[in-house]
Amino acid sequence: MRTFEKSSKLDNVCYDIRGPVMDEANRMIAAGEKIVKLNIGNPAPFGFRAPDAVIKSMSENLTNTEGYSDSKGLISARKAIAAYCRSKNMPDVSVDDIYTGNGVSELITLCMQGLLNSGDEVLVPSPDYPLWTASITLSGGVAVHYICDEQNEWYPDIEDMKNKITDKTKAIVVINPNNPTGALYPKEILLQIVELARQHGLILFADEIYDRLVMDGLEHIALASLAPDLLTVSFNGLSKSHLLAGYRCGWMCLCGDKSRAKGYIEGINLLSSMRLCSNVPAQSLIPTALENLEDAKKMLLPGGRIYEQREYIYNAITDIPGLSVVKPKAAFYMFPYVDIEKFHIVDDEKFVLDFLKEKKILFTHGGGFHWAKPDHFRIVYLPCVDELSIAAESLKDFLQDYQQCE
Ligand code: PLP
Repeated sequence: MRTFEKSSKLDNVCYDIRGPVMDEANRMIAAGEKIVKLNIGNPAPFGFRAPDAVIKSMSENLTNTEGYSDSKGLISARKAIAAYCRSKNMPDVSVDDIYTGNGVSELITLCMQGLLNSGDEVLVPSPDYPLWTASITLSGGVAVHYICDEQNEWYPDIEDMKNKITDKTKAIVVINPNNPTGALYPKEILLQIVELARQHGLILFADEIYDRLVMDGLEHIALASLAPDLLTVSFNGLSKSHLLAGYRCGWMCLCGDKSRAKGYIEGINLLSSMRLCSNVPAQSLIPTALENLEDAKKMLLPGGRIYEQREYIYNAITDIPGLSVVKPKAAFYMFPYVDIEKFHIVDDEKFVLDFLKEKKILFTHGGGFHWAKPDHFRIVYLPCVDELSIAAESLKDFLQDYQQCE
């Protein structure tokens, strides 16, 4: 009998946030167990609601968004995005340089498919948001991971980045604010990355989907604003800041100097046309959403949910013997260090699986973010403090006598 295997293009492509450990969690749920999922940055299941004005705007537009739009998106949406880009000093972005997408995810894959030939290299952070590595691999490219330095607030290690540039390198991916570390990069670091891209003629891909989720009075600096003479593709969307991940509403903007990328842009336009367009009702809410930035800010201030949940989980994790963590400044993730010698951990996936089976709480292992050592895991701190406290207590209890290799 003929059987069907996955295509060889998918060899080495992985997305472990929804991988084998989550499969086990789903099996446990199917068997009637209750699992606390701290593995996916999906605000809605944790009681976060999209702003009323945004939902109203989409409902009002449902009857005039039944057809396909221009493949780049509705003009009204792209005008609002262009204005947002201007507010962040992103250079040379007209409506023609903006593409809406079914989330940022679709556009990441589209951009990599359009750029990479077999063996082309792209620098990607470690730890990364794994869709980047997966999309590069699927496109025939090679993701070369540069280290982000936990001892230095998880900022990219510029020396390491420099050492990994070869004549095959085409681009640098910068995820700022960062998933999974919650880091926010300062101007000095961004300027050094821009300088490397300038010296080596590289494209910058800036994944800035968390730019409106910044705490402690800090401010996000758009990478493109520091690189008017380079091509920066900036990715953004409403899944996180407007708590509507299910609507699939993202965009990308080609910023700065496009003169050397005419062929690449032709490729992007072709791929954009091939998927016809992104979800049009979701595009129609973009102008209202970008006029309503205040709601998102409230949850990041003292007293707001994200802020208070970060404070709680940060203190709780640092109190557990054998764990430490850099306090996140943005987004809703943290990436704690676990003392692998103390607990004899050699396999981080087994570590989170053992924890899941014993305590019915789901984390993602560090390896899922292309972190090489088995000494980290990611916590999503979207659940309310009551649930986070159960998770932290359970982790403390679990680690009290956990020894992986006996
Ligand atoms: N980029 C980063 C860094 C993310 O964390 C995510 C989702 O978690 C995405 C992109 C994809 O977002 P979406 O496809 O919902 O716009």
